[in-house]
Amino acid sequence: MAPAATASPFERIAQMGHENVVYCHDPETGLRAIIAIHNTVLGPSLGGLRFWHYAHEAEALEDVLRLSRGMTFKSSLAGIHLGGGKAVILGDASQLKTEALLRRFGKFVDNLGGKYYTAEDVNISVRDIETIRQETRYVAGLPEELGGSGDPSPVTAYGVYLGIRACLKYQTGSESPAGKRVVVQGVGKVGSYLVEHLVKDGAQVFVHDIHPEAVAAVVNAHGVTPIAEADVVAFDCDVYAPCALGGGLSPHTIPKLKCGIVCGGANNQLLEEQRDGEALKARGILYGPDFLVNAGGVINVYTELEGYNQKRALRKAEQIYDTCLKVLHEATDTDTTTHAAALQLALRRIDSIAGIQKFL
Ligand code: NAD
Repeated sequence: MAPAATASPFERIAQMGHENVVYCHDPETGLRAIIAIHNTVLGPSLGGLRFWHYAHEAEALEDVLRLSRGMTFKSSLAGIHLGGGKAVILGDASQLKTEALLRRFGKFVDNLGGKYYTAEDVNISVRDIETIRQETRYVAGLPEELGGSGDPSPVTAYGVYLGIRACLKYQTGSESPAGKRVVVQGVGKVGSYLVEHLVKDGAQVFVHDIHPEAVAAVVNAHGVTPIAEADVVAFDCDVYAPCALGGGLSPHTIPKLKCGIVCGGANNQLLEEQRDGEALKARGILYGPDFLVNAGGVINVYTELEGYNQKRALRKAEQIYDTCLKVLHEATDTDTTTHAAALQLALRRIDSIAGIQKFL
């Protein structure tokens, strides 16, 4: 099989197992977009729309294939009835983004008849989603005043907090963060809500963010301790919670870690899933898989499709605790990484439902 870098689009789509990949082109508005539907066994595919200036078309295809596949596993593990999808618009958003282009994109989404729901992602705002909604009802993540679910961060942070509790339970026998030293890297939307939960539980929280005002806000609100960027990775702590950008767990950082647990909200924390998952395991560091513990965001949006209610979203997110414990046990029992065990669990759910559907 040809490797990712040299595979043709058809080969790559086959390798990744997508159901449908749609190229959208509209010369009048300059729209060039790709919608990738990875899997709809559990329900319609849902995933954000990203507007990005890719260097090559192949890079855009790779991004949308990888992200949509990730959504399949995230929604499966979250126990919600959604499949995985994602869309990208190619080009410089600051130059290309117009009402006409977004509405044209909406028509392409509508043509898929509900197989794909779009939502906000990088360079796409809630206002843009409102524009796309003029052409299709298959959108999610609308503001609360339009009956939508609004900011997903509180529910995401709650799920991450429960993931930390599950990891503590597994490692120490007690799920309580009281007295534990926790480093939160990145105190934006998710990180700051997470700090609030941890402080309430009596944890000793240390924070870092590249924006001093974000640090000042949580220090003032919760009395937590700021630490320098150079100290974050090697900080002696019980839990390290990456809540900034992905790719932070790599051969460069893993040997330096002085924590018992890594569990945070950032997406794609392992720079290379298998290699870096194995490296954490070899060091005896318990890793709460990111796509499991940060699923509160997609759970929140899913709840919107049923008529939004934050209490219900938070209740659904509570399942993250049990699923996380299950994954940690399975990883030990099967001598695999927690990341691989989470993927296996997600796949088993999809396979079991696909097994039912073949009788329909
Ligand atoms: P955000 O932009 O509100 O917060 C990110 C924070 O990280 C910012 O304050 C930023 O200054 C800081 N930051 C960036 N680089 C940093 C670095 N090197 N060191 C320290 N701080 C750094 O974003 P968010 O919505 O809180 O999302 C945080 C992470 O969680 C992202 O990886 C996102 O993809 C993921 N995530 C978010 C949600 C959600 O509901 N918002 C859901 C799932 C996953």
